[in-house]
Amino acid sequence: MWQTNAVALRARTASQRSGHRPLLAHYEAMLVDSPYFPDELEALPGLLAGAGFEPDALVATHADYDHLLGRLAFPGLALGLGEPSVVRLHQEPGAAQRELRDRDAELYVERPAPLALGQVQGLPVPGSIELGSEELELHPADGHTSDGMAVMARWCGVLCAGDYLSNVEIPMVEAGLGDYRATLARLAPLVEAAETVVPGHGAPHTRDVALRILDEDVDYLDALERGEERPKLPAGRDTREQRRIHAENLERLR
Ligand SMILES: [Zn+2]
Repeated sequence: MWQTNAVALRARTASQRSGHRPLLAHYEAMLVDSPYFPDELEALPGLLAGAGFEPDALVATHADYDHLLGRLAFPGLALGLGEPSVVRLHQEPGAAQRELRDRDAELYVERPAPLALGQVQGLPVPGSIELGSEELELHPADGHTSDGMAVMARWCGVLCAGDYLSNVEIPMVEAGLGDYRATLARLAPLVEAAETVVPGHGAPHTRDVALRILDEDVDYLDALERGEERPKLPAGRDTREQRRIHAENLERLR
């Protein structure tokens, strides 16, 4: 459902960067965003451990409820959020939990425990955080929502874009059209420097595919700004559901 992506990243611990070659490599790992369904969340720790990823930290690209579920898989870890997301959580207390409850009710999803965000850790955006001996860049990505960040793991060529650059979803402009445009402009050089771009929903993309989607999204925003009722939507995204999202975008701009 929604083709939701969670991304695990890892890097060698700082002490292992130089000096002698260790017998066993030690890594720090981080989970970006989260899967949705209880069985996915339950399977995640074992699945990741089997691939050599044992998360020490959780982050979410933005404060929409479908991205905040990491602690349901790793209840012992704190959730890191960009400062704008922390502000949003304070402005809308309980909203994420309420929306998750409503969506679960609609989908008949039963969870062993409700969502508890615990101690949320605010991260600087723009800024960077350490993962082992490497650095994760945090770039502002607002416009879809009032908060949002893109996470760039430059050393391994991975860009976690949050809810941008999706091949299955047109831009959902819930905050500002100008902010959305500025985010796409900010993402462009990051995409150029990435090998793999992972949107919040849809398939991970190669650089070239992500650049094509970015162009399509700019064209879509132009049509939205002109107030077109029936714009040409990009191939693969011209569906009834995307037309409904377009109608919502138009409504919000009026
Ligand atoms: Zn999302």
